[in-house]
Amino acid sequence: MTKYVYLFTEGNGNMRELLGGKGANLAEMTNIGLPVPQGFTISTEACTKYYEDGRQINDEIMAQVMEYIVKLEEITGKKFGDLENPLLVSVRSGARASMPGMMDTILNLGLNEQVVDVIATKSNNPRWAWDCYRRFIQMYSDVVMEVGKKYFEELIDKMKAARGVTQDVELTADDLKELASQFKAEYKAKIGTDFPTDPKEQLIGAIKAVFRSWDNPRANVYRRDNDIPYSWGTAVNVQSMAFGNMGDDCGTGVAFTRDPATGEKGLFGEFLTNAQGEDVVAGVRTPMKIAEMEQKFPEAFAQFTQVCETLEKHYRDMQDMEFTVEHGKLYMLQTRNGKRTAQAAMKIACDLVDEGMRTPEEAVAMIDPRNLDTLLHPQFDPAALKAAEAIGKGLGASPGAACGKIVFTAEDAVEWHNRGEKVILVRLETSPEDISGMKSAEGILTVRGGMTSHAAVVARGMGECCVSGCGEIAMDEEHKRFTLAGKEFHEGDIISLDGSTGNIYDGAIPQVDADPNNGYFGRIMAWADEFKRMGVRTNADTPADAKKARELGAQGIGLCRTEHMFFGEGRIDAFREMICSETVEEREEALDIILPMQQSDFEALYEALEGYPVTIRFLDPPLHEFVPTTEIEIEKLANKKHKTVADIKNIISSLHEFNPMMGHRGCRLSVTYPEIAKMQTKAVIRAAINVKAKHPDWNIEPEIMIPLVGDVKELKFVKDIVVATADEEIKSAGSDIKYEVGTMIEIPRAALTADEIAANADFFCFGTNDLTQMTFGFSRDDAGKFLDAYYDKKIFEADPFAKLDQTGVGKLMKMAIDLGKPVNPNLHIGICGEHGGDPSSVEFCDAIGLDYVSCSPFRVPIARLAAAQAAIAHKK
Ligand code: PEP
Ligand code: MG
Repeated sequence: MTKYVYLFTEGNGNMRELLGGKGANLAEMTNIGLPVPQGFTISTEACTKYYEDGRQINDEIMAQVMEYIVKLEEITGKKFGDLENPLLVSVRSGARASMPGMMDTILNLGLNEQVVDVIATKSNNPRWAWDCYRRFIQMYSDVVMEVGKKYFEELIDKMKAARGVTQDVELTADDLKELASQFKAEYKAKIGTDFPTDPKEQLIGAIKAVFRSWDNPRANVYRRDNDIPYSWGTAVNVQSMAFGNMGDDCGTGVAFTRDPATGEKGLFGEFLTNAQGEDVVAGVRTPMKIAEMEQKFPEAFAQFTQVCETLEKHYRDMQDMEFTVEHGKLYMLQTRNGKRTAQAAMKIACDLVDEGMRTPEEAVAMIDPRNLDTLLHPQFDPAALKAAEAIGKGLGASPGAACGKIVFTAEDAVEWHNRGEKVILVRLETSPEDISGMKSAEGILTVRGGMTSHAAVVARGMGECCVSGCGEIAMDEEHKRFTLAGKEFHEGDIISLDGSTGNIYDGAIPQVDADPNNGYFGRIMAWADEFKRMGVRTNADTPADAKKARELGAQGIGLCRTEHMFFGEGRIDAFREMICSETVEEREEALDIILPMQQSDFEALYEALEGYPVTIRFLDPPLHEFVPTTEIEIEKLANKKHKTVADIKNIISSLHEFNPMMGHRGCRLSVTYPEIAKMQTKAVIRAAINVKAKHPDWNIEPEIMIPLVGDVKELKFVKDIVVATADEEIKSAGSDIKYEVGTMIEIPRAALTADEIAANADFFCFGTNDLTQMTFGFSRDDAGKFLDAYYDKKIFEADPFAKLDQTGVGKLMKMAIDLGKPVNPNLHIGICGEHGGDPSSVEFCDAIGLDYVSCSPFRVPIARLAAAQAAIAHKK
């Protein structure tokens, strides 16, 4: 029999897979003697089973839950539905990896009309009792029965208006009692049945709702962004309630052991008196700073400080904790390794090493490479920022510089972003439903909420700038406008946000590139370089890109797409002349114009790389991408080539292909027009000879890469041209320069026949963009149109063009290595498809023994860190 339910006393911190992060940590806190309200965890396996059984909780799991309710009743001395000593519980989700705010929670479960009277009388606090009940009806209706929150909020607003008050806490016991009955009437109107009164029925409904929330749209988006597999499922934690809303000697808080925005050591968080946890997280009321708790609850605060120290030492990482104070007594509700900004992650990892808590290897392994992105993004120009005057100030909830047009809804943020606008999402407060909009925005500004409100936590996780809790804003969401510093702002107006200081500026403040090599970042990356086995190169086509990539730590160019060198003004004309040639002579004439351009480009690349390797790939594009499209351009080309407009149009239409991605591109161009390969070889070799002459101590050894090879004979054909041309160039220059000729492995047939190909290649480089395209048979250019349906239907969890399909495409890569290496042990092997900058794909590349990964310049630090993490993991 499978065990699906565990008391907190039965688990421990190592059982994350089974109990989820929250469950494992509640068990661990119980084990180390911290004050935790007791409860049990229903495992992630039960969630998986629920989905396998067609979204049903089977009898076996149900029986175990019932058994554990009895155990919990024994432990707490309370009973569900009891009229003497009733048990009330919270029901919370908790996946293996924390997904803040993505899934559902229900508090105060176990209440009904009788029980609420019992607790009202016993506590002598009817206000508290009715507050719990109305909260429960509201949450249960929303989460379990999916009656929208807004109906209940409207009723609360009406009640507040009728009583002439503005805050929930100003409502009396009678008001709340009245609200509870209005809520129940609303429930009946929407659902058609009475609100459930049996606590066990309520509990089963809540457990199902938490399981179901694993599959809600926002959780699906979050999982895809954070590489969390759907198959993991969520656990459910059923915990007896501790009450923070029983009066002014009660409260609830969220705190971090270090500042999640900067990494600064010290208790950091927020506290609300007479409230329940959701009030802090949801940002409904703006809470007080944690330090102020000390005056109100000196004993609980002292104990809490002690607990923080214990937990940080225990987990050897910054902790993010939720707690409640009930009549002055502290209860711990949750601890987890806190989400943090990239800046904070760097500082915390270095500090933990300096404090002797972590080794450098562990410090490197702690940092999520995907977050580095934010460190590399622009900041405000310091001079412009100094000169600018802030029009308002909120909390600097997630650092970064953001500038964009104001939008007021998440939907608008997505829509405006999709049409190329930079937007700032301004909201009264954000809710988890806003996640897509938050992702699309440059920055987020909220009127309500604190440093731990949903907007702040999620923005930090996404590395996005966020200013929260700017109470000075008078918001009018309905009419899409707000007033700040006496000025009315409308949709489309531009503002700037400084996520570090919380300052808000009218208009745009100029931005400058971030300095990626500052202290902590530099230290972590130096460690990463020490631990990684694979090299990290870059995909760069221009000297500027190459220089940027070198600054970011690239150790070479793994892919120079030579066709991209013709995008610029003045270049494209020459290229078009070459494409629209009808004879070899005509083409050679055009190539003669191109040759010096290519040569000088290559020289600049060699200069930028200062002796690091440079792989130059020969022309690859479908030619039609480069042909002129407007009448003026066609006429210009016709004049140059002394042809008629009709001639050029005929040539263009003859270049049309039905399936250009599988068409006349790659090595096929050199097969039909060998003169192209000849010209490119001359340009590469001449450039190398010239730069070597200037820098004799640099190691200049060109790597010429032939694209889209499927048959060894294609490679041999092109290679013969390259070798003959190169040798002649070297000989006539009296040089002794060496060069290599290799190929991309990007057609499945190349992987399948890699032994034949390896005998004729100095290196392989996996072009996993094309290899993915051709293995799946999905067009790289069009797959985006239908992949969303694949995610919705759970056919795919991730875009195979972004995250390597290790099962299929990866198998071909492995096969190519296994076939190629024995034939040519000197073969060096890399990857230059987009996957070269994706952390999980980098890990796979390390596992199958690649020599290097190559990615776009801004992803170089991500790849360096991911490569180090892979090496550390594979060493274990
Ligand atoms: C590839 O196919 O993975 C590759 C790097 O080449 P391109 O994207 O230029 O086709
Ligand atoms: Mg390719």
